[in-house]
Amino acid sequence: MPKRDYYETLGVPRTASEEEIKQAYRKLARQYHPDVAKENPKAAEEKFKEISEAYEVLADTEKRQRYDQLGFQGVETDFGPGGFNWQNFTHAGDLEDLLGSSPFFQQFFGGGFASPFGARRPSRGGDVELTVRLPLIAAIRGAKPTLEVPRSVACPDCRGTGAKDGRAYERCPECKGQGQVRRVQSRGFTQLITIGECPRCGGTGRRIIERCPTCGGSGRKSSVERIELTVPSGMEDGSVLRIPGHGIEVPGGGAPGDLFVQVVFEPSEQFRREGMDAYSEANVPLATALFGAEVTIPTIEGHAVLKVPAGTQPETQFRLRGHGFPRPRGSVRGDLIVTIHVEIPRSLSGREKELLREGLGIRPSEGRRESIFRRRSS
Ligand SMILES: [Zn+2]
Ligand SMILES: [Zn+2]
Repeated sequence: MPKRDYYETLGVPRTASEEEIKQAYRKLARQYHPDVAKENPKAAEEKFKEISEAYEVLADTEKRQRYDQLGFQGVETDFGPGGFNWQNFTHAGDLEDLLGSSPFFQQFFGGGFASPFGARRPSRGGDVELTVRLPLIAAIRGAKPTLEVPRSVACPDCRGTGAKDGRAYERCPECKGQGQVRRVQSRGFTQLITIGECPRCGGTGRRIIERCPTCGGSGRKSSVERIELTVPSGMEDGSVLRIPGHGIEVPGGGAPGDLFVQVVFEPSEQFRREGMDAYSEANVPLATALFGAEVTIPTIEGHAVLKVPAGTQPETQFRLRGHGFPRPRGSVRGDLIVTIHVEIPRSLSGREKELLREGLGIRPSEGRRESIFRRRSS
């Protein structure tokens, strides 16, 4: 495919001013960058590359002059053997405000080669982990606790650039905005070429003219984010919820990391959780165990009535159906299993002793040891 004339590509006359060229390029960049052109991102990317190549040449007085005189031949050597590629593009700064936060742009320039905005731009921010403690009842009813998450975010006043209003900077003169510098060392007949972070701008590719007063030039701002977390009912103790995009932000538009929240239910002295079932213990008077009664038993959510039948043995377990924990995302609930402790009176009046002995058929001379023997041998 024959190459289109650069002026034609940008839709400007050969007499266009620098400003006209810039405006034409920005207009086309808005139109073609693949974030917008979602139907055919591949074609949009090609188009975007084509206009960027034209802009790379026409925005530079010296390159433009050579192009005017000699055509494509005049600028051939400015690009690599395969022609223009993104490494050759030095004007990304003219688009940063337009596309800086675009994931596409990030991927475009953040990849294997030096980013026009800085070589150190990470592709994704780190994750943040925290633990939230909730009362046990939240495992049944769910909860919406408000989390206060400390965050370091890109300064909103300078969009993370550290420069006043996000504009008071220029391309680093040392590295021409590449963030990296080539060092050539000659050793005898050999030349050693190393590429490293630009010492002048620390790899950002920017020289700040005036510092952002909000962040003092760091481009970062610490803040506390309040997040209302939804803990569904039936969550297992120690489960982890992931909140995408609420981790550490990256200056300059990289994807932020995720927030991971571990949910811990406060241990309860009264209730023990085993899967969907809850376990508890209750004391009942001797009379209740002997003659039977309805007793009120504390449950995780309140109270329930338990019918203790006459003749209930100590340490009997009763199952209160549906008073346990729900299944995650389900309506079925486990049970509350109550172990009954029978309270033996510590002291009895003479009359009570008499009546009991009579009722149980124990003669006054009979001792405890004797009755135990009798029970064991039977
Ligand atoms: Zn700032
Ligand atoms: Zn630099």
